[in-house]
Amino acid sequence: MQLCASFRKEAGRVWKQMKESSRLGLALSEETITETCLYNIARQHQSGNITVIPATKPQEAKHGADWEWWFTRNGKGVGYRVQAKRLFPSGRYESLFKKGRPLGQLKKLVSAAKSDGLDPLYCFFNFDFPPNGFYGFHNNCRHDYRGPSFWGCTIALPHDVELMAADGIDKLRTIMSPWHSLVCHRPKLSLPDTVMKNVQDLARPRIGGSGARKTSIEVTTSARVLPGYVGRLIERAASVEETRRFLDFDYWGDEPSSGRNIAGVVVVDDRS
Ligand SMILES: [Zn+2]
Repeated sequence: MQLCASFRKEAGRVWKQMKESSRLGLALSEETITETCLYNIARQHQSGNITVIPATKPQEAKHGADWEWWFTRNGKGVGYRVQAKRLFPSGRYESLFKKGRPLGQLKKLVSAAKSDGLDPLYCFFNFDFPPNGFYGFHNNCRHDYRGPSFWGCTIALPHDVELMAADGIDKLRTIMSPWHSLVCHRPKLSLPDTVMKNVQDLARPRIGGSGARKTSIEVTTSARVLPGYVGRLIERAASVEETRRFLDFDYWGDEPSSGRNIAGVVVVDDRS
C-alpha cells in the first residue's frame, strides 16, 4: 500500500471512531489516537520500499507531549515536531489554547522545534461536525479520495493557527490539510524531498478567504544528516527484526536523547 493511502485510511478510521466514541461517552485521548494511527500505519509498512518505525516512550509523563516525525532516505532526512489536538463535541479544539496564556503552548512547540532543527506542526483529529464541518473542502493530493472521512486527521502550521487566533473548527478548517497530503508521493522525488515540498505548499502565501496570508512561512527546504537517535533507530530496526517488539524499552533505555520531552519518535524510511 502507498503511504498516502495508509494515511488516508487511518484518517477515515479516526473520523468514524471519534464519532462512535463520543456517542459512547468515551473520549479518546490524543495519545491513544496518535499511537493507534502510527501502529496501524507501521503495520502496513514493515518491509519493502517504505519502512515505518515507531518508538513510543514507555515512561510516564508523556501526557500531552509532542511527537517527532522523521522522513528519511540514505541517512538524511527531515524532521517535524508534532503536537496533536482533538476536536471536542463543542466544535472546538479545547486543549489548543490554555486559559491565562493562550499562546503559551504554541510558542513552546515552535521554540522547541526550532532549537532541535525541526519544523513545528499541528496534527488535528476530527469527526463530522455539521453544518460547519469539512463539506466543500477538497482533497489536495493527486489521488482520488472521496470526502469527507479523509478529514479525520489533518495538519496545519502553528504560524497559521496563531494567525487565526481561534480554536473553533469553523475557523481552523480553512488552514488545515488532510494529513495524507503530507506524504503524497511526488514522482522523481525521494520521500524526504516529497514531504518538504508538500510542507512548502502549506507554507505558501494564501490569497483570499479567512485564512489569507501574504507572506510565506519559513520551513525546511533541504534534507539534513540525521541525528544519532534517528539513525540508530533505523539501524536497530533493520538488524533486530526478531526482537522488534522490545525496541521501545531497549531503545529508550540507553538512548541519550530520552531525556527530551517527547512522547515518541516515528521514522518513515525510504529504502528505494
Ligand atoms: Zn495522494
